[in-house]
Amino acid sequence: METIALAFALARKIEEYDSKKKVTILYEVIETAPSETVVIDGVKYQRSLNFTGKIDTYFAEYLEILNHYKKLTEIDYEIRYQYEFNEQPETLEVFKTVLKNREYVAKKLDQKYGNLRVRMSCPICGLTDKNSVNNVYSENTITFYCPEHGEYSINVNEGISKLEYNSPLRNLIRGMSYTATNQSADYDFEILRITGSDYAGFYQEELRYKVASYLGCKVSDMSMIFYAPLVLDWSGAKLSKSLYVKEGAYGDIPKRFINYSFLKEDLGFKGLDILYDIVINWINNPYMLFRHYSIYYFIKEFEKYE
Ligand SMILES: [Zn+2]
Repeated sequence: METIALAFALARKIEEYDSKKKVTILYEVIETAPSETVVIDGVKYQRSLNFTGKIDTYFAEYLEILNHYKKLTEIDYEIRYQYEFNEQPETLEVFKTVLKNREYVAKKLDQKYGNLRVRMSCPICGLTDKNSVNNVYSENTITFYCPEHGEYSINVNEGISKLEYNSPLRNLIRGMSYTATNQSADYDFEILRITGSDYAGFYQEELRYKVASYLGCKVSDMSMIFYAPLVLDWSGAKLSKSLYVKEGAYGDIPKRFINYSFLKEDLGFKGLDILYDIVINWINNPYMLFRHYSIYYFIKEFEKYE
């Protein structure tokens, strides 16, 4: 929520700063994120949020948040699913480059298994080989394996809309695809990515810039990333909703700071307005963007604004 609020606040600020600029939020949805995991014959398989339909459970809340901030800031947004990102011609070109250099990319991005972490779910049952252990490659074709339904393949020349990537590979492909878009004369816009600071630093240096450079992407032209400060718990770890649910680890934190539905129950849309006020203050005082915040900071700030 903090990252979404920050995206709208930054967009508003850019438009105020330069009235000739028009900013739109492009909300990239990873509908292929795992929803459930099973192990069959020692191989890990997952089914996606999309396949299980769980994506719909929370999507209405996301839309409510996006629509509220759109109204507040007069900044428009669009939603792009991963299959649509994959349909971009720039993404296909990047993927072909990755495929050609798959041994290098696999070694760099997947130190544990040494696999190119590309997946496609079984067209019949949705099972997806999480660690890409049974993938077989030929020049333009990738063959995947389902323990129940056998082999199925994709020819990349016929489109890659059905492909999925693990986080480091997706991060690399995104970075290179956004860069190609920004460098292309076919578009009258540029993409600036906003994401959480947990992906800043070592992750980008080793897994994005160095690998992209090896693959022929000019690093000095690469698309910019704007990092949202992290929200930390008492131990300095990123606040984790699953930890809260599983372990009850955050007994001292009011529920409204854990879950959007509780925030709405307590404060209505005022909760989103307060969050926006907090992050616009960071944008107006940019040094405040180069640090992280504990959840207790938000508790104190909410007291101030309420
Ligand atoms: Zn299957």
